[in-house]
Amino acid sequence: SANQPFENAPNTDFSIPANRRWIEGLLDVWNERSYGTIPVQVGGVEETTDNIADGLDPSHPGEILYRYANGDASHVEIALQTATQSQPQWEELGIKQRAQILRQFAAVAAQQRGETMGVMLADAGKAVQESDGEISEAIDFAEYYSRSHNTKGWNDGTTSSPVGVVVVTPPWNFPYAIPAGGCLAALMAGNSVILKPAPETVLTAWHLACQLWEAGVPRKVLQFLPLDDGDNGKALLSDPRTSIVVLTGAYATAQLFQSWRPAMQLYAETSGKNSMIVSSAADLDLAIKDLVRSAFGHAGQKCSAASLAIVLRDVYESDQFRNQLRDAAASLHVGSAWDLSADVTPIIRPPHAELKRGLTKLEPGEFWLLEPQMIDDNPCLWSPGIRLGVKPGSWYHRTECFGPVLGIICVDSLEEAIRIQNDSEFGLTGGLYSLDSEEITTWRESVEVGNAYINRTTTGAIVQRQPFGGWKHSAVGPGAKAGGPNYVAAFQNWSQAALPQ
Ligand code: GLU
Repeated sequence: SANQPFENAPNTDFSIPANRRWIEGLLDVWNERSYGTIPVQVGGVEETTDNIADGLDPSHPGEILYRYANGDASHVEIALQTATQSQPQWEELGIKQRAQILRQFAAVAAQQRGETMGVMLADAGKAVQESDGEISEAIDFAEYYSRSHNTKGWNDGTTSSPVGVVVVTPPWNFPYAIPAGGCLAALMAGNSVILKPAPETVLTAWHLACQLWEAGVPRKVLQFLPLDDGDNGKALLSDPRTSIVVLTGAYATAQLFQSWRPAMQLYAETSGKNSMIVSSAADLDLAIKDLVRSAFGHAGQKCSAASLAIVLRDVYESDQFRNQLRDAAASLHVGSAWDLSADVTPIIRPPHAELKRGLTKLEPGEFWLLEPQMIDDNPCLWSPGIRLGVKPGSWYHRTECFGPVLGIICVDSLEEAIRIQNDSEFGLTGGLYSLDSEEITTWRESVEVGNAYINRTTTGAIVQRQPFGGWKHSAVGPGAKAGGPNYVAAFQNWSQAALPQ
């Protein structure tokens, strides 16, 4: 209830046989499902359009999983009008009622955990363990944000009011938790929301929207509007009635949005080129285990993924490090998301040019510790790759590939390691593996990232404990962190009335 302190939702424990049987049983149900055509929902009405696109399952990229309707210019206009008109009533409902609806969403999401996993497995090729964590995160966002502003008013003359209309444009890599987080924060703050899903994962976003409506968010307050890459997205985002645009995506996309409307209020979590330092004082078993998880979890398709390890020479040159790292990565089971034993599941679409280069072509001085292979003739399915001998300043050092490939740089000192880690236009996550407290202090004081992790994976930020968001070109906007104390407030205008003393 509202009065209880926030607690993180637990993930499913798949080591319990009953939980494994539960998921295995669901697999048959998921296999039988068909999804039809997903509509646009604007103005409180569901409609299909002439602009129908295909939804694909990355585990079976040749087959069509579902179809969805892209909105046209008239839908953009209806959505903006409706959002503007519906917002004041939603605001007047008050904080307590809105918080109650957020908690209701948390209950729906918890109750439908199995169903949501099946949707993500098919739509995003996401392994169940990975989608399980995403569902917990969405529940956490709802519970945590519902506790923002537990007080009725402010006794220091401060007042706040919603910004108005928020457009949420989420990514496909976290197709559930990230749109949930953006929508829930904006809604909690009293805004109406237009959700424009990522084209690759419309089904998951639709499933989320249905859960939000089921929880009690009015259909005119949360609208659902897929748009293709044409002018309609531009029209929606650059319309002055849109107060804030929430984006998780590439830095180049954030720049494109801003070029459309320089006055746009953009809250963007963008790219990264994240690295983990392995010092001579590391617990090597732990470092390797976490490095493999950080690099290859969800096939490396997390903004938070470690795609570089910067390793001290004595460790780098040791057989133990190389053999253990290679074996750990090679023993991951690569397979379809429908295979519940798969650790590395398909990438969302066949590799784009940069990822292709990362998976298939070495730079001068590099060699493969583990060469990636395409598996099962599926252009989306690749086994993990590890590049040794990556040179500071090289193409691989600089480029975000967003796939199952890790590069290793050798250094002679911690200072050099930190210099290379910071030598990036991005600053999202970063890691250090060391048991030496002086090294830890030095690193903490100098690393230039939003989420700095010590002896812990660089992925899987936990709501409240690790508010998530980056520095440099990993973020655009005011920098309020998702899952942190200032996030809901960032969707309001603040005013301080001061009386003469
Ligand atoms: N919050 C996620 C994590 O900590 C990453 C989100 C993203 O990839 O955008 O792993």
